[in-house]
Amino acid sequence: MNSRTVTEPRFDVEAARAYFPILSSRVRGKPLVYLDNAASAQKPLAVIDAVRRFYDTENANVHRGVHYLSQIASERYEVARESLKRLLNARDVREIVFTSGATDAINLVATSFGQAFLKPGDEIVLTQMEHHSNIVPWQMLRDRAGVVLRIVPVTDTGELDLDAFDRLLTDRTKLVAMVYVSNTLGTINPVREIIAKAHARGAAVLLDCAQAAPHLRIDVQEIGCDFAAIAGHKMFGPTGIGILYGRAEWLDRMPPHRGGGNMIRSVSFEKTTYADFPARFEAGTPPIAGAIGLGAAADYLMSMDFRAAMAHEAQLLEYATDQVGAVPGLRIIGTAPEKVPVLSFTMDSAHAHDIGQVLDDDGIAIRAGHHCTQPLVQRFGVPATARASFAFYNTRGEVDALVAALHRVNEVFA
Ligand code: PMP
Repeated sequence: MNSRTVTEPRFDVEAARAYFPILSSRVRGKPLVYLDNAASAQKPLAVIDAVRRFYDTENANVHRGVHYLSQIASERYEVARESLKRLLNARDVREIVFTSGATDAINLVATSFGQAFLKPGDEIVLTQMEHHSNIVPWQMLRDRAGVVLRIVPVTDTGELDLDAFDRLLTDRTKLVAMVYVSNTLGTINPVREIIAKAHARGAAVLLDCAQAAPHLRIDVQEIGCDFAAIAGHKMFGPTGIGILYGRAEWLDRMPPHRGGGNMIRSVSFEKTTYADFPARFEAGTPPIAGAIGLGAAADYLMSMDFRAAMAHEAQLLEYATDQVGAVPGLRIIGTAPEKVPVLSFTMDSAHAHDIGQVLDDDGIAIRAGHHCTQPLVQRFGVPATARASFAFYNTRGEVDALVAALHRVNEVFA
């Protein structure tokens, strides 16, 4: 027995699939092959049941009522926060702010951190690999507050140009806001190294973890980031819910970004005082069912053998890269050595949207377009890519179905 056999855990993909009811459905008369996980992941029974139980038997608003149901709903909401704290290994449960998604979390930081800590001329380092949700809020801040944006370029393999990063990081840099894992290329960025360098210059770091959360264990204390934005729907939770993790030292000093109920201590027409964090950043009725569902997703991820799931994903990526890459006229975009199972590609025979259409006839769901990363896709000189993105519940058989359909694309458009 070699060491690989001993150390590599086995992942029972069929057992995992059984927890995701939608995966056994048929589309256009064919078994669904869901390879659009980077757009949104499917939901396990644990999440569906938690949301249903809440609406069936526990529904009420949180933090307001003295009555039984409101107390139960409030408790469930806070228990979900505890689950996210454990998943991310935050030091303090108050460092978990519920938002409507990763976009909302980044906008929160841009508005509030921007107001508290940034002045005209201060610099923010972004990368060419960012999702629009980690570009546009900073452009809006630039136009409002006069900050300067510096952009780290991407290499031909789809990695960050770290020499350029070293040059762009200066004493004027106050924040580095960057994606941990690219939703378009799958590249895993060397965030620990980048954070260490940023901190040495006195800059804070926000990590967009939307694509990292479904594939990697994120330990915010070990990584050392100041902020992390997470999209609930991409980590097997409901839509309309996300997380901002923020280090207590920052959140404590940040002003609210939105006003309303729940975020106040006292209100009069002369003067309003604000609640402590995280309530200060959760104005209005929060997405209660969504938070409870996301808590269930976090519990599910913590209860599974995640190391085995990651090994399975790595094998899927290797197999898919070989098989898809061998299709004539197909070019894979994003060939970094450190990747999660996301495959972007173009084909000589067909436009990305036509590829998506042919695959859909076979019940195969992929995404075609710029994946909300226009500057990145343009950097590779193409208007759009087709993207097959996998989760731990995908199988080698599904890769085979994808490859067969890609050969059909070549036949149809020959
Ligand atoms: N960043 C990345 C890398 C993403 O993949 C996404 C979602 N596609 C977002 C941000 C936006 O997240 P949300 O859908 O929660 O707003």
